[in-house]
Amino acid sequence: MKSRNWIGGEWITPNEGTVLVKNPSNLKEEVGVIHLSDESQVFQAEQAAKQAFKQWSKLTAAARGEYLYKMAAALEQHLEELATLASSEMGKPITEMKGEVTRGIHLLRYYAGEGVRADGSIIPSSDINVLQYTRRTPLGVVGVITPWNFPVAIPIWKFAPALICGNTVIWKPAEIASLTASKMAEIFEEAGLPGGVLNLVIGKGRVIGEALLEKIEINGLSFTGSTDTGRRIAATCASRNIKYQTEMGGKNAAIVLNDADLSKTIPMVISGAFRSSGQKCTATSRIIVEKGIYPAFVEQLQKAVSEIKIANALDPTAYLGPVASKSQFEIVQSYTEMARNQAEVIAECQTSVEEEGYYIKPLIATGVQAKHSLVQEEIFGPVAVALQAENFEEAIDLCNQTIYGLSASLFTSDLSKAHRFLDEADAGMVRVNQETAGVEYQAPFGGMKLSSSHTREQGQAALSFYSEIKTCAIKHTF
Ligand code: NAD
Repeated sequence: MKSRNWIGGEWITPNEGTVLVKNPSNLKEEVGVIHLSDESQVFQAEQAAKQAFKQWSKLTAAARGEYLYKMAAALEQHLEELATLASSEMGKPITEMKGEVTRGIHLLRYYAGEGVRADGSIIPSSDINVLQYTRRTPLGVVGVITPWNFPVAIPIWKFAPALICGNTVIWKPAEIASLTASKMAEIFEEAGLPGGVLNLVIGKGRVIGEALLEKIEINGLSFTGSTDTGRRIAATCASRNIKYQTEMGGKNAAIVLNDADLSKTIPMVISGAFRSSGQKCTATSRIIVEKGIYPAFVEQLQKAVSEIKIANALDPTAYLGPVASKSQFEIVQSYTEMARNQAEVIAECQTSVEEEGYYIKPLIATGVQAKHSLVQEEIFGPVAVALQAENFEEAIDLCNQTIYGLSASLFTSDLSKAHRFLDEADAGMVRVNQETAGVEYQAPFGGMKLSSSHTREQGQAALSFYSEIKTCAIKHTF
């Protein structure tokens, strides 16, 4: 397979260089070739998106919803094929990848339904002869910049609400999710989405991302990725007065209290930390355990982690596959070495894989201070750190000792402590007796502190980002 841009309904193979994609589960297997764009493709996308906006924004929201239903149906037909391609491109286990495509289908249907829901309210006027009300209007052309770790769901949770609100979109996916992005555009073309409504431009962040941000007229920008890139993007958008949202990194904590049921807690902590090889922004990377239960917790954790199955992402029995790329492999490996040299490894996966790929065996380390890099930096791999807390208060304090604030969990059977945690943990998503990852599409998603621009995605919250409110007033009798 080769990647292609989809601009104004036309397929274009750009020629600013190519990148060979090797399967991270098996480096001997070539998955396809990415064709990189130069900024001229961004200018073409700008023209196409502006042109398409004229008709798309004039359709009723219900009519736009019909397109989204067709996109969902087409995605459902291609679920297996798309999930297999994405697993081969970035190494997410096939079972999880199918779940992710299914989430994309649900998101499209959820936002399709918004086409026939109320989009404003009537506000009483001080003048009896005036009807005063609000309604949403689209922003215009919206830029969407996405990461590779949820190559299907994240783009859809951005462009589905953008499209239902009447915007047109220019989408720049992460380089190492470009084949998946190309296939998605093919599926949406097959669904009958009019040309120019969604425009896909594939290329490097520094080239395409920056052209999108600095050289064309866009009216909104939604970004998910690392905190460093997100902050630069936010600064550029603010200086141009472009409406923006940035969803960024995390260093999420799971707190285990003395009264937690370990037989249920441990599988959830491990799933939060190691599914998708720890490459979720909501992955558990700090495990804070109350002193009284720590010895039993570690004993059971060791056994469970040692038995985790790491395998080729296309193996349906794989608990986790490889990390996504060579650079991810090198970064995560530097942290596993740090864990071995500067901390104590208390649990480690003992299974191994025959194939040559970017496999990293999950591990949990301890014995470092709260300020240590292992406790403070986002690793984005299957490496977690355990910390002991004297009591509930210290556990909350440790939980909040981070620059990030995306997600946090508490495991307990004490309802009163559960409520205190929900109040006191500084995170956008706070969960009791559930893993830190796995928030539902119909609920707002986003972080506090350096995890987000304090906006929210998904659910109804996304509609507020992709539209502006107009306050309308008609004097009907005068
Ligand atoms: P990244 O910041 O390297 O890249 C994200 C996107 O930005 C890519 O499409 C990339 O090409 C583009 N980009 C890079 N430089 C750019 C620039 N100068 N201008 C414009 N665009 C540019 O992140 P990544 O490695 O793809 O993703 C991993 C990160 O994403 C992690 O930090 C993770 O926590 C975060 N993430 C956050 C969420 C969330 O919702 N909070 C969800 C998933 C991933």
